[in-house]
Amino acid sequence: MSNQQRFRYQDFTDPKTQLVTADNNQNAHDIYCPQLSCGCLLLRTSFGTLVERPKDKTASPPNDEKSDPNGTTNSKENINWNNTNGESTSQSNVEYWQLTDMMAFENIGFSKTIEETGLKYICCADCNVGPLGYHDTKAQEKEYLIAVNRVSYDVSSLISENIV
Ligand SMILES: [Zn+2]
Repeated sequence: MSNQQRFRYQDFTDPKTQLVTADNNQNAHDIYCPQLSCGCLLLRTSFGTLVERPKDKTASPPNDEKSDPNGTTNSKENINWNNTNGESTSQSNVEYWQLTDMMAFENIGFSKTIEETGLKYICCADCNVGPLGYHDTKAQEKEYLIAVNRVSYDVSSLISENIV
């Protein structure tokens, strides 16, 4: 298991090609918790579909313990979500893996619903790191969204083909 190669979104030279299946826009690799010390499997290949959603839904998540006493346990490790080259901060839309059925996840955790926004934040079922995405309980379309740049990917298949 320790031999598996995990990559973040920003590690890919051409994520749109390397992460997405060409024919149906689904995730081409298994998706894992971004914390290397955890590595929980979250979603198997081709269970998510790439979509764009407004960035503001996860722009200011409840990551302060004092403001979210009933929410999920906050991670002790700090993850810098935008440790690339700052490109993502200027985008108005963010790309997510969309699921319409929460049972399609291998492992996943949810925060309690935030009353003001109707959002449930998605986190790792094992270590509670998050938010990795969200579920909008007020949305007309029922969907669960995992931010493409907040998770890790097992790309051992890509490495064997010398693409990465
Ligand atoms: Zn985890």
